[in-house]
Amino acid sequence: MNFDIQHIRSQFPILNREVNGNPLIYMDNAATSQKPKMVLDAIENYYEKFNANVHRGIHTISQEATVMMENAREKVRNFINAKHAHEIIFTKGTTEGINLVAHVLREVLKPGDEIITTEIEHHSNIVPWQMLCERTGAKLKYIPLDENGRLQVEKLDELLTEKTKLVTVNQISNALGVINPIEEIIAKAHQAGAWVLIDGAQSIPHTKVDVQELDADFFIFSGHKMYAPTGTGILYGKEEILNKLPPFHGGGEMIKEVWMDHSTYAGLPFKFEAGTPHIEGNIVFETAIDFINEIGIENIHQHENHLVEYTTEKLSELEEVIIYGKTLPRSGAVSFNLNLQGVHPSDVGMILDKKGIAVRTGHHCAQPIMRHFGIPGTVRVSFAVFNTKVEIDQMIAGVKLAIKMLG
Ligand code: PMP
Repeated sequence: MNFDIQHIRSQFPILNREVNGNPLIYMDNAATSQKPKMVLDAIENYYEKFNANVHRGIHTISQEATVMMENAREKVRNFINAKHAHEIIFTKGTTEGINLVAHVLREVLKPGDEIITTEIEHHSNIVPWQMLCERTGAKLKYIPLDENGRLQVEKLDELLTEKTKLVTVNQISNALGVINPIEEIIAKAHQAGAWVLIDGAQSIPHTKVDVQELDADFFIFSGHKMYAPTGTGILYGKEEILNKLPPFHGGGEMIKEVWMDHSTYAGLPFKFEAGTPHIEGNIVFETAIDFINEIGIENIHQHENHLVEYTTEKLSELEEVIIYGKTLPRSGAVSFNLNLQGVHPSDVGMILDKKGIAVRTGHHCAQPIMRHFGIPGTVRVSFAVFNTKVEIDQMIAGVKLAIKMLG
């Protein structure tokens, strides 16, 4: 294995900066990851040498840009082991991917149909389904959480009916870092004849994903959480399902022919990619995957798991700290609070920021989870490949300082 943490860190220029007089310790990767130099260079390279619109140019650089973007699609296909490159749809991110599916299902769902989501979702895997249900008269149901933050998957059997059209769940919770049993959920949903949509926003940066092995019908994620530029994302869908669905936006690129009174639509993947895409971002997606592949997703997984274990161990030594989902399998993030009267998670976040430590505080776009625990929010530390135990020690020192100041 070639896991040289100092070499990895040297590839992230932002780690050289100071925040409030201290070296930056960036532990907000679940919100967005930092970008390695090869990604930053690839952005510049694209604009300096290849900037042109794709798919419609006869001229050389347009064709070059098109080849680069389609190579990136192939790289994503390979990364998640999809069967076909045309099952990979470029989007703006997880939110757009989920909304795309929810939008096109307006034409498929009927009143009385059912969708099942869960209590552990990001708002972007709840609100689009509420909107879809409002439009179609379909019903939204939830797999509930237990007191530890575990999804009560055993309740799925009673929730599933012959009317269930879709079951959706995240693979890893952004708010708690808890790994959900998606294999079991996929198997049960398929037995009941429902499609399954996996929100992979927090799993794809940390774990190996094989969509064919998972047998997910849709698998959706963002590029910016896996070292690629913001405004990029992927909707993977099985070919036979995507082919059954109507297009999303209307416009250029997604048509075969346009007449005054009607249009015919392009095939996959262009049917879902109207308009000029985020060409630079999509092309550079390939470089972000190259970065991950050079280190190896399994090595990244192992390294980040050690960081989660170490953080849990160190925080557990502090009696004022409550860790959410502590007893459950977790990856990428640790979510906690100080059990001190009148102390808000943002108080802790502000003290850590004074030490140059970037963490996220609040409800993490997952209000139902916070309501479940009866809290306004949590402090969340979330890791990437460049984080170290030394940084965790400094974060723990910051938490101890917060306990002293706020206690
Ligand atoms: N789902 C999960 C689990 C997430 O963590 C996030 C981002 N925090 C999203 C969806 C939304 O992703 P984006 O903001 O990139 O669209």
